[in-house]
Amino acid sequence: MTMLTGARERWVRTGGVELCVAELGDPRRPTVLLVHGYPDSKEVWSEVAARLADRFHVVLYDVRGHGRSTAPQPLRGGFTLEKLTDDFLAVADLVSPDRPVHLVGHDWGSVQAWEFVTVERTEGRIASFTSMSGPSLDHFGHWINKRLTSPTPRRVGQLLGQGARSWYVYLLQLPVLPELAWRGPLGRLWPRILERAEKVPAGDYPTASLRSDAAHGAWLYRDNVRPRLRRPRTDAHAHVPVQLITPLGDAYLSEKLYDELEQWVPRLTRRTLPAGHWIPRTRPEQLCTWISDFVSCVENGRTEVAATGRHADRFGGQLVLVTGAGSGIGRATALAFAEAGARVIAVDRDAESAARTAQLALRSGAPGAWAETVDVSDAQAMEKLADKVAAEHGVVDVLVNNAGIGLSGSFFDTTPEEWHKVIDVNLMGVVHGCRLFGKRMAERGQGGHIVNVASAAAYLPTRALPAYGTSKAAVLMLSECLRAELAGKNIGVTAICPGFVNTNITATARFAGVGPEEEKRLQKRAARLYGMRNYPPEKVARAILKAVERNDAVVPVSVEARGARLISRLSPGLLRSIARLRPPV
Ligand code: NAD
Repeated sequence: MTMLTGARERWVRTGGVELCVAELGDPRRPTVLLVHGYPDSKEVWSEVAARLADRFHVVLYDVRGHGRSTAPQPLRGGFTLEKLTDDFLAVADLVSPDRPVHLVGHDWGSVQAWEFVTVERTEGRIASFTSMSGPSLDHFGHWINKRLTSPTPRRVGQLLGQGARSWYVYLLQLPVLPELAWRGPLGRLWPRILERAEKVPAGDYPTASLRSDAAHGAWLYRDNVRPRLRRPRTDAHAHVPVQLITPLGDAYLSEKLYDELEQWVPRLTRRTLPAGHWIPRTRPEQLCTWISDFVSCVENGRTEVAATGRHADRFGGQLVLVTGAGSGIGRATALAFAEAGARVIAVDRDAESAARTAQLALRSGAPGAWAETVDVSDAQAMEKLADKVAAEHGVVDVLVNNAGIGLSGSFFDTTPEEWHKVIDVNLMGVVHGCRLFGKRMAERGQGGHIVNVASAAAYLPTRALPAYGTSKAAVLMLSECLRAELAGKNIGVTAICPGFVNTNITATARFAGVGPEEEKRLQKRAARLYGMRNYPPEKVARAILKAVERNDAVVPVSVEARGARLISRLSPGLLRSIARLRPPV
């Protein structure tokens, strides 16, 4: 039984074992060879393989002793990296005799693939390597030695941190016990452990071979870890471009392990994502995007993916939708994501300015950018937009609900129509965005992030902004509630609360209770004051990217916003007194 629907299976005999090889997609396309880890079989890749098969010739095999491949006899000494390299070459020769393959490895699949890309005898057989959650034992050995021979408090901390995460490696060195555990209770409990601790969706993975995979695979550790860590090779330099994908929530491997990787890998692209160890199961879509982009780049003669901006490792290739993207904070945010290599959808009610943002995004490095003209307060139009985006681009990874309008004036001067307008755009626009795009994110089950642009006015009462402040306070509370609801789906929600930012909002903000001429004068005065403060929207954009990366809940931006937030907690009475002050006329 295989979960790899439509796969063609073949067998290859090598070094006393028979390996089960599965293929999907057109063999004339570039070959992507997926190597699984411990305690897994090739089926761990089923979600990734199915997605890659449209574009590539996808090949998977069960590592010796795993899945449907036979085990070496005796087991001891049968799993050395040298033998695993023989296996890889046998598979590569079978499935792609004339062209080098693009290797992708997870966990022990990555550990062994590091060997493949750093030994001489595979040169010319590998085009690129995407590594996830499995370091080279040689690099790891040097990493440990460096920390032992020239310790600093930081290095010792890193060593202890990784040491604690490696508890299972020590256990696997014990004779017999791991086998007994896997064939007994651990084997029974493992699917539930994966589901609870690693958020791996329940289903037909892990497969029925789990117990023997885990028992045989213990020899991967026993045959290789101690000898290699004791005497790491000094020539373990990668002879192919490498893409390193690091899940930041990996319970077994510290991200610090890769700090010095450039010394071994001259052509390195880094990627990070907020996820646990089993990303082939929990983030197949993201992996498919990154693998496809990287393989295509290398096939086209480039060794690094285009964007190298500050946050490129995190947002490269992601789909980001920003509302109110035609001006100010929205445009700056769209461009910051573009610089990080994200695909950007710029939404604004003003068609021309949205188109301009998309154009600028392409110039800033976005691999794709599109403009959409929609009024966020129009529920039906938003629904249509969400359908269109899903059909044409897929599920949005980061949603920024930024569109908003200003409205100033006392409570009694504010008409019901003005209330409606500001609530419809500032609050209901955010509600529609969260509901329509957030729902698809949640249904996909592969994480994501929602940013709602509120304002310092959300927690800073003033008699001058009752309607605007109320709309923003609602956005803040909505964000907090939604954050709680979506936490279990690995979707972060952030409320951004800027202070005075020098944008066009002052020119378009309405002033209740005054005539057109007086309104013009007040708009001009506000623009002058905001101009004097001169806080650029680009700084808010930077804060937004950082907040998504760190999954912050509420982020006041600018000194006045942070100060007001502090006072609102320490001395709310003081804020109430300030709130009574009449705005200057
Ligand atoms: P801006 O006026 O420069 O940009 C707002 C953009 O949103 C414009 O392109 C506008 O066309 C678009 N927009 C307005 N209503 C829309 C609607 N119904 N549908 C679609 N698009 C719409 O303003 P900005 O300062 O960049 O404001 C962005 C967000 O930041 C707003 O939510 C605002 O309330 C918030 N904010 C701004 C400041 C500030 O000082 N500028 C401070 C705190 C919060």
